[in-house]
Amino acid sequence: MSESIYQPPKEIVSHALIDADKYQEMYARSVNDPEGFWGDAAKRLDWMKEPTKIKNTSFEHSNVSIKWFEDGELNVSVNCIDRHLPDRADQVALIWEGDEPGNDEHITYAQLHRRVSRFGNVLRNMGVKKGDRVTIYLPMIPEAAYAMLACARIGAVHSIVFAGFSPEALAGRITDCKSTVVITADEGRRGGKTVPLKANVDEAAKHALGIEKILVVENTGNEIAMKGGRDIWWHEAATGVDEFCKPERMNAEDPLFILYTSGSTGTPKGVLHTTGGYLVYAAMTHEYTFDYHDGDIYWCTADVGWVTGHSYIIYGPLANGATSLMFEGVPNYPDASRFWQVCEKHKVNQFYTAPTAIRALMGAGNEYVEKCDLSSLRILGTVGEPINPEAWNWYNDVVGKGKCPIVDTWWQTETGGHLLTPLPGATATKPGSATKPFFGVQPVVLDPQSGEEIHETAAEGVLCIKDSWPGQMRSVYGDHERFVKTYFSDYKGYYFSGDGCRRDEDGYYWITGRVDDVLNVSGHRMGTAEIESALVAHNKVSEAAVVGYPHDVKGQGIYCYVTLMAGEEENQDLKVELRNWVRKEIGPIASPDHIQFAPGLPKTRSGKIMRRILRKVAENDFGALGDTSTLADPGVVDDLIEHRENR
Ligand code: ATP
Ligand code: MG
Repeated sequence: MSESIYQPPKEIVSHALIDADKYQEMYARSVNDPEGFWGDAAKRLDWMKEPTKIKNTSFEHSNVSIKWFEDGELNVSVNCIDRHLPDRADQVALIWEGDEPGNDEHITYAQLHRRVSRFGNVLRNMGVKKGDRVTIYLPMIPEAAYAMLACARIGAVHSIVFAGFSPEALAGRITDCKSTVVITADEGRRGGKTVPLKANVDEAAKHALGIEKILVVENTGNEIAMKGGRDIWWHEAATGVDEFCKPERMNAEDPLFILYTSGSTGTPKGVLHTTGGYLVYAAMTHEYTFDYHDGDIYWCTADVGWVTGHSYIIYGPLANGATSLMFEGVPNYPDASRFWQVCEKHKVNQFYTAPTAIRALMGAGNEYVEKCDLSSLRILGTVGEPINPEAWNWYNDVVGKGKCPIVDTWWQTETGGHLLTPLPGATATKPGSATKPFFGVQPVVLDPQSGEEIHETAAEGVLCIKDSWPGQMRSVYGDHERFVKTYFSDYKGYYFSGDGCRRDEDGYYWITGRVDDVLNVSGHRMGTAEIESALVAHNKVSEAAVVGYPHDVKGQGIYCYVTLMAGEEENQDLKVELRNWVRKEIGPIASPDHIQFAPGLPKTRSGKIMRRILRKVAENDFGALGDTSTLADPGVVDDLIEHRENR
């Protein structure tokens, strides 16, 4: 692992919202006096009724219950829109950048208010009431934001399904949360291609239970089938509809949304988030993690189909009155310069993306970055997977020119917002480490066998959280037992993240991968992230995934899937070279038993490597690959099976 440490640049520290001393002081208060700390934090929102009860939470296995601000009342859309109108009606709330360069739109807070209100009234006219579930299956167009905020305005619970998902995956999610209304578009656009969204919904409707109405936004204008009595055009339903929509009074613990996890480790879970705590946490983390100042242009490249899009494109930024950029396209269309062109065009100050995109753009070559003017960039962020130090350094040197702190944010759909992250003006960073906890977050490292907390600073084991924070999920929708079993049963009294980690002598946290993926080779426990990072550090390797398989002598053997940089030749000599490389980087214990060259790796639609499938392939067990509905390209798996290493 990398030894380097980067101090926050002076220019950042001098203007930062939080510096190192303030972080220490606020962190101490947040854990010693959570009621006081979060009671004050709640004041960042406008409440219809101020909360007097702040925290009421229990991780006790027999009685898991999480409530924050439980007697408070508020409306999320009012907090994200209406309350900004007196001061910033004409400020841009959303910059929309289309799939085709040149296609964009600036939406002010005043416009957002009118459009969301109209959307809310359309939904109300369709019979949608407080508490009803609405499935949103939209591309990254402004209507996706309007639909989310309109649901929040009228108290409906949205469940967004990423528009790249198949009809089967969509049907499963519609049925699971019993939603009777689906909002979609005729088609979506991504990377110069169209996606048949309405046709997918039609297909899903054959399998899903209970769909009554489908609201269709006209986007590409291409011909689609509409079914009388069920399908409604948005523009027809919105004609003549009032531009004021009375916001629903919501209790802080009323549901805001359901979102299914990415399915990296198993069948997706319907994660339930509620109103008050979630918004306090999303807003506060957005402000401090990105050191967001009034007037900054902030861009998170995620899709609203993921939690990152919920918390850090829509709810956090808009609650803070920010200008948030929403991008319809992909990193490599029309070419690998697109992200950087968009940064230049809109003078982006904070840029937040995923390691999968960073690795891909690193593989494409520096010239795509260097031809753009990135001088507006101040903060860079990453989320979704451990970031290999190699990719971190490239992000820092080539994109940030060594001037932009990198915030490596570790969190989950379940956590609502960042749990481990540097703060730009406060935390020295180490490439590959998510560094330190956010306010109110008490991470602990447990011994995986005994379940005991390891108190020494330097530790390795299972990452759990000791006490609740306001953004925490409240339940698995419709299945509280699954919630308790998944997160509170293996390690009693703690929230179990499912991830493994190492804490170094400075108290920095390093995510080593999923606990399910941890290798045990001849009695040595190893995270997949470390071996993968060693492989990616080799100049011919662009991506790597490592899994274990049963080994007669060692217990588990190490099987590596390696994607080479463009133009590199796959041959036996290179396998030997890579094996020696890993031995040298980590040690003989980590020496790969098998290396398979893989032009593509199985990834979820959000770009995460699905190691559970790779494990099955390495184990020669192709019969039971498990839930593959969230896989981006199922064809990759056949190719891997065909070219697997014989054992
Ligand atoms: P499922 O829970 O269905 O298997 P998932 O865990 O991929 O899917 P998400 O909630 O989207 O669903 O992802 C959260 C996980 O992503 C974390 O538990 C962690 O494994 C990984 N992750 C996210 N951010 C980081 C990061 N900065 N560093 C390391 N790992 C990260
Ligand atoms: Mg998970």
